[in-house]
Amino acid sequence: MRPVLIRGLTAAAAASLVTGVGIFAATSASAAAGCRVDYSANSWSTGFTGTVNVTNLGDPISGGWRVTWAFAGNQQITQGWSATITQSGQNVTATNPSWAGSLPTNGSANFGFNASYSGTNANPATFSLNGVACTGATGPTTPPPGTTPPATTPPATTPPPTTTPPPAGSKVDNPYAGAKGYVNPEWKAKADAEPGGNRVSSNPTAVWLDRIAAIEGTDDSSSNGSMGLRDHLDAALAQGAGYIQFVIYNLPGRDCAALASNGELGPNELPRYKSEYIDPIAAIQADAKYRNLRIINVIEIDSLPNLITNTSGQAGGTATCDTMKANGGYVQGVGYALNKLGALPNGYNYVDAAHHGWIGWDSNFNPTADIMLQAAQASGSVNNVHGFITNTANYSALREPFVQPTTQVGGQSVRQSKWVDWNQYTDELTFAQAFRQRLVSIGFNSGIGMLIDTSRNGWGGSARPTAASTSTNVDTFVNESRIDRRIHAGNWCNQSGAGLGERPTAAPASGIDAYVWVKPPGESDGSSSLIPNDEGKGFDRMCDPTYTGNARNGNSLSGALPNAPISGAWFSAQFRQLMANAYPAL
Ligand code: BGC
Repeated sequence: MRPVLIRGLTAAAAASLVTGVGIFAATSASAAAGCRVDYSANSWSTGFTGTVNVTNLGDPISGGWRVTWAFAGNQQITQGWSATITQSGQNVTATNPSWAGSLPTNGSANFGFNASYSGTNANPATFSLNGVACTGATGPTTPPPGTTPPATTPPATTPPPTTTPPPAGSKVDNPYAGAKGYVNPEWKAKADAEPGGNRVSSNPTAVWLDRIAAIEGTDDSSSNGSMGLRDHLDAALAQGAGYIQFVIYNLPGRDCAALASNGELGPNELPRYKSEYIDPIAAIQADAKYRNLRIINVIEIDSLPNLITNTSGQAGGTATCDTMKANGGYVQGVGYALNKLGALPNGYNYVDAAHHGWIGWDSNFNPTADIMLQAAQASGSVNNVHGFITNTANYSALREPFVQPTTQVGGQSVRQSKWVDWNQYTDELTFAQAFRQRLVSIGFNSGIGMLIDTSRNGWGGSARPTAASTSTNVDTFVNESRIDRRIHAGNWCNQSGAGLGERPTAAPASGIDAYVWVKPPGESDGSSSLIPNDEGKGFDRMCDPTYTGNARNGNSLSGALPNAPISGAWFSAQFRQLMANAYPAL
């Protein structure tokens, strides 16, 4: 399970979750002004994330609230959310956001901050609300004259049982469980405009924040939408959604091993990534009005695995991947995103972990897990990672019932076939579960969950095998038996024959938080010929159906559909094919 702040934990139990949890509660002697503060500090060696939950036990407050405290050591707040936080020496003042100035009796406000420290990170001794110390249970109103004042010793507060639900905003183990997903109205409109599209258009898909302009929203409808981040969050509230999914996708030197999804930031523009992209996203997502929405951020598709397999000296390696490895732009950028977005009490980070057809070989598997850990450490804490996602925007089949790594044909292992090519995995579910175990074994939380993008890995329709081949030739057997009908597992662009996969589902298998549709079905992976655009997108020949390949796809045909628009733009023919070949069928 993940660390969550639960009121009333015993000191010993709390210590195993977070470095400091304090409950500041007693009775105020003054009339109708009691309060209580639950404080937690989730620390690493040089910093911590503090969370403050203040409950007004007295008369309703309507003109604004102010929570004050003093740090005992050299703690210095660097960033706060859901309150305006200022610090002078050791004294800290947090005031309400302009839109949330009232606190009814028993109402609470929740806010947080990141801070640095050295030495010991002791909890503050007391907190005050509007100048009155938060000492506990409901404060007495002024006693009527002549009555005996209540006992001078404040009554001991009985901690609620640990089964008390966590306060609004605390992280849950699986943000998909029991929650309705946000349906992106822009994607839905495009899907609905296709014949039969309304059979699938109410599924939740992710919103890709694929350039700085996507935060505010854009006017251009040539690519994937014009609503900004706030528009989507507001629409999610209006839908009564429980979770919303974003893709954080704008690293410097993006897509270093391919061209179709190159981005706007050059290889050395990490500072812009932080200040013009991640900071504004974190600030908007931290708005208290979205606090009850589970905000899921899928972090930077393909980036870290590219540093493992696509630097020079490797088949198909590129100079840009060398640069991004050498200048730390990917690891530091992912670390920064994880830190900022992981600090949100309702933020859930899932880091992209490629797919089995990329890192399923032993030589790639452990090093990819290791670089994930490096990025998490760069963020300050593995706690910033809620889980990982595999198969994002890819086509690997969820299960290969007839081609398992242990399957033998004519005395040979299927791993010797050209298709499997000695990979340790043949399908995405087995791979995701195994990769999860590896990640936990090297230091990630045991509560991490995996997501699998099943938007386009259905491979249904008449070409889908229904039984294992009877051939005794290992290549023929595998080619006739496999669910994944690509020409080569390294093909990734607008694949011919693909279908919609499993519909978005929470907790479908052990270790899997959800099957998700992160790549919105119908959005192109890349143009099949050069199309000038102002999004930085290039032309990758893997999207050209006449291309005969390179070392990374075994010099095979690309398998891409013809006449595709630039990545992210609506590709009607692809959407229709995906519906026709859906598995499960529509
Ligand atoms: C593109 C993005 C797009 C995403 C979802 C990526 O390949 O580069 O611009 O938002 O796909 O369609």
